[in-house]
Amino acid sequence: MAASRTIFIAGAGIGGLTAALSLANKGFRVVVLEKAERLEEVGAGLQLSPNASRILIDLGLKDRLGRRAVTPEAISIMSVRAGGELLRVPLGKAACERAGAPYWVIHRADLQSALADAVTDHPDIELKLGCQFEDLAAHAKGLTVVHRTGNDRRQDVGLALIGADGVWSAVRNHLFPDAQPQFSGLIAWRGTLDANQLPREYTAPRVQLWMGPKAHLVAYPISAGRQINLVAVLPGKWNRPGWSTGGDERELRSAFEASGWTGPVRMLIAAVDGWRKWALFTMPEGCAWHQGAVALLGDAVHGMLPFAAQGAGMAIEDAAVLAKTLSEGPSETSAQVAAAFKHYGRLRRARVARVQRLAAKQGRIYHLAGPIALARDLTIKAMGPERMLARQNWIYDWRLT
Ligand SMILES: Cc1cc2nc3c(=O)[nH]c(=O)nc-3n(C[C@H](O)[C@H](O)[C@H](O)COP(=O)(O)OP(=O)(O)OC[C@H]3O[C@@H](n4cnc5c(N)ncnc54)[C@H](O)[C@@H]3O)c2cc1C
Repeated sequence: MAASRTIFIAGAGIGGLTAALSLANKGFRVVVLEKAERLEEVGAGLQLSPNASRILIDLGLKDRLGRRAVTPEAISIMSVRAGGELLRVPLGKAACERAGAPYWVIHRADLQSALADAVTDHPDIELKLGCQFEDLAAHAKGLTVVHRTGNDRRQDVGLALIGADGVWSAVRNHLFPDAQPQFSGLIAWRGTLDANQLPREYTAPRVQLWMGPKAHLVAYPISAGRQINLVAVLPGKWNRPGWSTGGDERELRSAFEASGWTGPVRMLIAAVDGWRKWALFTMPEGCAWHQGAVALLGDAVHGMLPFAAQGAGMAIEDAAVLAKTLSEGPSETSAQVAAAFKHYGRLRRARVARVQRLAAKQGRIYHLAGPIALARDLTIKAMGPERMLARQNWIYDWRLT
């Protein structure tokens, strides 16, 4: 295939791999540069609502993902103040039938490896591991992309570059050095447990969301139900980049013991051996989505708080929209690609900003304390499961049009 149809993608995360498959299916040749030497089992669980699972199914990943994902039957909203379940929001079959696609929870590594297997099987995609994007230059024929594997620094010419290289994006830094991720003042702690270590009530296919003063805990099964994924979010000052630093579990335990958390939460926290932590960074709303024939997607442009469970979902949507936009019009020259990328940014900007704002708002609600937490709990109870689920329709019902 001609070099003029070659698109480079920096980053083989969830967004970059989805973009590679989406673009290759539209007839482009794709080269994915990934700085990690191996796609390792770093990270924890991700939630994939129907807006995202629908895209992955359309890419032919239903069987690959279905073997590893869990379809939770409900989200249980629990309040520490109330001492138990406030509301059970049905997901499972009901949500699947209504939205036409499943709600899945899955280990990030399982999702990444299913995408990477499909990418490796695709004749028009080359995945270069241990290969870091370093620099780029735009010229009349397209772009020169500079990348490094060990001491071997090379340059290649392509039609376009997509920065899918996460919240600390080197591509974004090159284009817009003033747009920097900001520390939210929150730290996520992640741990996993073998499901057979726990009583059955904690291993049901359900997402449990525990809200308490200035903190919350989410628990759900992953790895076809063999493991339970726990993520606790607390305020803190530690703010180093990265996704998997060892955390001192005494710090976490004492935070959850101090402020009256109920027995089940403390039991879950104590059962984990080897907590990892990452500081939550976000991109300010309104970052530019492209410059010329270079576009950004996923966390590189809109890294968000995890409280809407849409970080991966928005990256997957970006990838599908970008591929569709690029394939719809002529894309032979840099000017045509730039016009397609401008349109892509226009299509994504408002929806993603709304999700970013929702995520920030939900974080504040989850962490309420005192009398206002009582008002929150009463409101959630009064709302009931159907209304609670209907509030998500604008996210889950999204379709590639
Ligand atoms: C290792 C890891 C673990 C994570 N764990 C979780 C988790 O447990 N829970 C959660 O909610 N979110 C997690 N995330 C974030 C989550 O995957 C993203 O929020 C979401 O999926 C959007 O993904 P993305 O593709 O935009 O970026 P990411 O998933 O962050 O992927 C970016 C990719 O770009 C690569 N990269 C970075 N710089 C360069 C460069 N210069 N050249 C080439 N490649 C580069 C990175 O190695 C990475 O593979 C994790 C991200 C990473 C990288």
